Amino acid sequence: MTDQIVESLNNCQGKLHPAAHKIALSLLTWHSKRGVWTPKQRELAIKLIAEVADTEKKKTSMVADITPLISILASSNMVAPSLRIIKGGATYKLKLDKKDSSIEVIRDGDWAGQFTADGCYVPRKKADLAEVNRVFDDIMAVLIDPIGYARTYGALTGHCSFCAKPLTDPRSQTAGYGEICANRYRLAWG
Ligand SMILES: [Zn+2]
Repeated sequence: MTDQIVESLNNCQGKLHPAAHKIALSLLTWHSKRGVWTPKQRELAIKLIAEVADTEKKKTSMVADITPLISILASSNMVAPSLRIIKGGATYKLKLDKKDSSIEVIRDGDWAGQFTADGCYVPRKKADLAEVNRVFDDIMAVLIDPIGYARTYGALTGHCSFCAKPLTDPRSQTAGYGEICANRYRLAWG
């Protein structure tokens, strides 16, 4: 006899974050050995399935206006123009793909997904709901004032928010980017 919940949980495996994946695995192992779950285990399995369903739903409904950021990054003739910012304790690198005008999101050095040209956030496959929400909210905040976040990045790190080189001139330290990048991206400086 096939149990619908067992089957659903089985299908969810690749979409759960590591901790939840471990739980799912132990539930499935238990079930395969004994052919039955306790009510508590069953409840837990349903919770995990619901979490995946929520994440999937969320993944298709997160849209942001990324045009201001695209227009800043696209104004340079760099091959892969990018902006570094710090938000919510994480360091983000937002990189424009000039081929399709999408924005790649790199969070603390790891690829976290991308915004398509029309602003749809497509998180990395393994992201759980908490991560999806966190990254989207962080980027939403940055999109309102990218240059303000550039300034903060420069102040916090002493490095250019565009090219990551050390900022030596006080005017660059105030702006959050150096004179060369100001010219590259057509931004006010000094
Ligand atoms: Zn620079």
